[in-house]
Amino acid sequence: MTLAEARDLAFRALRNNGCDDDNAAAVADNMIEAERDICAAHGLFRLPWYVSSLRSGKVNGRATPRLEQLAPGVTRLHGDRGFAPLGHRIGLPVLAQSARENGIAALAYVDMYHVGALWPEVEWLAQEGMVAFAFTASFPYVAPAGGTKPLYGTNPVGFGWPRPGQPPLVFDQASAAMARGDVMIAAREHRQLSEGIGIDREGRPTTDPDAILEGAQLAFGGYKGAALAMMVELLAGPLIGDLLSFEAQQDDAGKGAAPHGGELILALDPRRFGDPDGYLERGERLFAAILEQQGTRLPGARRLANRERTAKGGIVVPKILYDSILAVMERP
Ligand code: NDP
Repeated sequence: MTLAEARDLAFRALRNNGCDDDNAAAVADNMIEAERDICAAHGLFRLPWYVSSLRSGKVNGRATPRLEQLAPGVTRLHGDRGFAPLGHRIGLPVLAQSARENGIAALAYVDMYHVGALWPEVEWLAQEGMVAFAFTASFPYVAPAGGTKPLYGTNPVGFGWPRPGQPPLVFDQASAAMARGDVMIAAREHRQLSEGIGIDREGRPTTDPDAILEGAQLAFGGYKGAALAMMVELLAGPLIGDLLSFEAQQDDAGKGAAPHGGELILALDPRRFGDPDGYLERGERLFAAILEQQGTRLPGARRLANRERTAKGGIVVPKILYDSILAVMERP
């Protein structure tokens, strides 16, 4: 499919299932950005789930996100129970402006459903010249260090750094050893995973994705990744007045909708910190020193290369996924 065809498919499915034009467009564009960069776990793969979340009545397809100033550098964005992407369109420019004025600013995005990948937010902010961070929780999928029962989301952290004359440096990674969507895709494709991704219901290590989905995922790097997962829970939940992952599951009440919760996004204007004339050049010095070593690459390089490739060659949508989208295209 071309990216335009895939975008049209997503837009129609969302529009036919209760989204207004603005919400359908923001979500479809976000999914197609993921497809374009070959981040399959946050692309069209999510569409049937998003449609069922709309049909369940949990997600408001006609959400009107609203801003509220809490402190000079702190803005709350109320998602009105909609999907996350429309709020990003409204909130990110306000966050960037607030960082320009205050040096540092936070966007406390609450009462929305499911942030996919975090790189679109931090990339956008870094393109605006900001150093950016983003954090979000989801449902309990990951066991705490030493435990066997799911408690944390796969809780990603995103980071963006501006670069002169080229796309920003961005990394965006789960605190789980593997993103949930990738475990689900492995289960769909009947593929075994490597060790260290998860444990079964009894807490035994396993490489079977179905057993992990029933049991618990593990944080990357043992207790160190688990501490990051805990931090993300606190930042995207209690700090901003939204749900912890296990509270989001209670909130779902068995509907199987996308997770209801929050996201904390931070922007720092580097021109207001210690080295306004040197930070860009010194960042480049670091990146050059990394790349001098054989076997290295910068985070984000894979996505940017995919972006160039899919702009010309389009994307491959697995037939099983395409059929599942067609099956939900019309509201029953
Ligand atoms: P990956 O492990 O695939 O990649 C993590 C980061 O490391 C990326 O920025 C990646 O860049 C970079 N990277 C990978 N390999 C190298 C390398 N050899 N050298 C340097 N950098 C490298 O990501 P995850 O599976 O952890 O997460 C995937 C996505 O899922 C993320 O976008 C994340 O936000 C999202 N997610 C969302 C969740 C949610 O609840 N909303 C939960 C968990 C994850 P590159 O992309 O170029 O490969």
